Amino acid sequence: VFNQGVALYVEDLKVAFDGFQALGGLSFTVGVGELRCVIGPNGAGKTTTMDCITGKTRPDSGRIYFGSNLDLRTMNEQQIARAGIGRKFQKPTVFEALTVAENLELALAGDRRARFAMRAKLSGEQRDRLGELLKTVHLADERERVAGLLSHGQKQWLEIGMLLAQDPKLLLLDEPVAGMTDEETERTAELFLSLEGQHSLVVVEHDMNFVAALAGAHRTVTVLHEGKTLAEGTMATVQSDEKVIEVYLGR
Ligand code: ADP
Repeated sequence: VFNQGVALYVEDLKVAFDGFQALGGLSFTVGVGELRCVIGPNGAGKTTTMDCITGKTRPDSGRIYFGSNLDLRTMNEQQIARAGIGRKFQKPTVFEALTVAENLELALAGDRRARFAMRAKLSGEQRDRLGELLKTVHLADERERVAGLLSHGQKQWLEIGMLLAQDPKLLLLDEPVAGMTDEETERTAELFLSLEGQHSLVVVEHDMNFVAALAGAHRTVTVLHEGKTLAEGTMATVQSDEKVIEVYLGR
């Protein structure tokens, strides 16, 4: 399906913190438009991997390419973000005193000056995009609601909408459904599946029901353990992998 090429190429990535090997030669590749789930026990190296991709942590060795030829190791965090990699951290960070629409307007307006204006001036095209984004992130009915009054899940969707406003090619999502209700979790799976194809997504997640819903029968799941790829394949493949079972259940 994803024959258009490579969105993210990670090869033999190594990171040590004070002699402790957090990543010990990690490799994986994400296709353009692919929705990839990354799982693994605590300490497996998931956060460190995301930090290396976004330029927050400098790997000791290895390669990270965005698209076919953009070497992320030579770029800083701002350059990487501008190149089209958006990251969503676990905790929502929205402007609580502003409405849902205002939050999205600021993200659409994009530049720093606009961030200080209460009502950013949007073009007609951006207005249309605002309407689309509200629907995409399930917040069309909350348009004029103050963000501080949204539920935890709705705040997470709003922040995802703000990331989408910047039209990232690759979205990195760190435990996006932590703290969400079952219904919010289900709707978040729908949301991510609706983004597949237009964006490449890497979702780091602990909630196995959510991962199963995202991966379905055919998408690839990458299992990290001790800073390396332990297994990779469909949910059924990794769930029946003896190494994976041992890591999750055997200790
Ligand atoms: P995960 O996100 O899969 O839980 P992390 O990438 O956060 O794993 O961590 C991998 C390992 O590296 C862990 O054992 C963690 O304690 C260690 N680690 C992460 N960041 C640092 C740091 N800044 N200093 C020292 N050790 C770290």
